[in-house]
Amino acid sequence: MRLSDARTDWASPSTDRVPAPRCLRRPEPRDQGGSTPVPTYDFTRRARRPSDPDVVVVGAGLAGLAAARALTGHGLDVQVLETTDRIGGRMATREQDGFRLDDGSHLLNTAFPELRRTLDLDRLDLRPLAPGVLVHSAGRRYRAGDPQLAVARQAAARAPLGSPLDKARLAGRLGRLATTPVGRLQARPETTAARALAGHGLAQRTVDGFLRPLLSALLSDPALGTSSRIADLVLRSYARGRLCLPAGGIAAVPAQLAAALPAGTVRTRVQVTSIAADGVETLAHGRIGAQAVIVATDARSATGLLPGLRLPDFHPVTTFYHAADTAPLGEAVLLLDGDRPNGHPPLVSHSLVLSELHPSYAPDGQALIATTVLGRRAFDVGGPAGLEPAVRARLTELYDVPTSGWQFLGVRHVPDALPAMPPPHNPRRPVRLLAGLYVAGDHRDTSTVQGALVSGRRAAQAVLGDLGVPADAREAEAAA
Ligand SMILES: Cc1cc2nc3c(=O)[nH]c(=O)nc-3n(C[C@H](O)[C@H](O)[C@H](O)COP(=O)(O)OP(=O)(O)OC[C@H]3O[C@@H](n4cnc5c(N)ncnc54)[C@H](O)[C@@H]3O)c2cc1C
Repeated sequence: MRLSDARTDWASPSTDRVPAPRCLRRPEPRDQGGSTPVPTYDFTRRARRPSDPDVVVVGAGLAGLAAARALTGHGLDVQVLETTDRIGGRMATREQDGFRLDDGSHLLNTAFPELRRTLDLDRLDLRPLAPGVLVHSAGRRYRAGDPQLAVARQAAARAPLGSPLDKARLAGRLGRLATTPVGRLQARPETTAARALAGHGLAQRTVDGFLRPLLSALLSDPALGTSSRIADLVLRSYARGRLCLPAGGIAAVPAQLAAALPAGTVRTRVQVTSIAADGVETLAHGRIGAQAVIVATDARSATGLLPGLRLPDFHPVTTFYHAADTAPLGEAVLLLDGDRPNGHPPLVSHSLVLSELHPSYAPDGQALIATTVLGRRAFDVGGPAGLEPAVRARLTELYDVPTSGWQFLGVRHVPDALPAMPPPHNPRRPVRLLAGLYVAGDHRDTSTVQGALVSGRRAAQAVLGDLGVPADAREAEAAA
């Protein structure tokens, strides 16, 4: 490993300023007189024990699992060390009294290219949501944003999205986005999504009645402070693909990645406490040496292990789960709250009857409703559950059914759900910190399943390059 690597590859040109781990730093001469020994550091790799893997990956979320899969695919011996007792990181599902509850409501998009290339979508048994969305606004519900719906039908629909011309403009914009190359979108001037919406040339009613609530839900960002380029990418995916969920819950996604790894690759309940380019220290399992280490944790843990890595802001996500004897809607469609009380984002962002997506989400004769609240909330002593009466009251209006008989199954509040992506956002942050030390995770790309998967693959490609795997073999893997 060369110290010059630290200057050229360590930090992104913009914000990351990561000091090299101690074992890689040049010694600071403390005493010129010779009485105090000057510390010296061994820049050669320490001897590896036979049980040490080629590569240690820290974290068994999507990014870590994707990296491990790419590396084991090249015959490398990889150990994925995960501090919790399960794989999947933020993508988890648990069973509760016959209900299948994701650890915070997720939505996949079939147009995510990395999802398609990394996973066997057929085996995931993806269930698509109904096309378009239902928006509730001013006491009415209307369907909008179905890119497949003919412009004429959208124009005829009694939707308060503006005039027939406005609806045609919206359909045209979604259609153009769907076919615009990603590179062209990324070259557009960058501002916040909120400011960009004002400059779209679309009717205010179209923006307020469809684009704003849709983007808030898809970005988990009620203020729409996200980069306009990322908002365009997300809208592009929306226009090209279908929102969907695996029949087995969101945990089926990391489970499929993990199942493709050689047995014993993932070790759970192993907390990594410090890292170097030639191995990691763990809380209770000693030191594990390796030729390369990929830190594939969430952003907050990554900054703990790699001081100096930029800590982003986060968008919290709070999900309420209710059970009902009767489904309040006969289809799995994303129901958006399009009202903005006093110009502020609504309490409820969106809601979905999960049991209409797949019956296994709820026991026979029951419906499961997942409702998402976005943004930072001042929870009182009741915590997030204290918001439940207000959420339930709003659901009564949104679904237009009585909800007093609904059973409150629980709430999941994830304060660091998604790293914020304000402008300027670099969707390809450096993953190679030094030869031997790499970082992956959604905070390196985009705060999405797509971003986490891509970051894992990019980190693995960088490792392979440094370990001397020929470029054509790596390219073949990347193109597979
Ligand atoms: C409620 C919610 C809703 C979301 N909705 C969507 C959505 O609709 N669409 C979408 O595309 N994305 C969504 N996301 C984002 C998506 O889930 C993430 O982008 C993705 O799961 C991140 O994967 P990751 O591997 O980067 O990180 P993580 O999943 O956070 O994995 C990191 C892993 O590292 C482990 N770890 C941390 N520290 C250590 C340590 N010291 N030692 C060992 N292991 C450690 C953690 O336990 C964890 O398992 C949502 C996220 C949440 C929370």
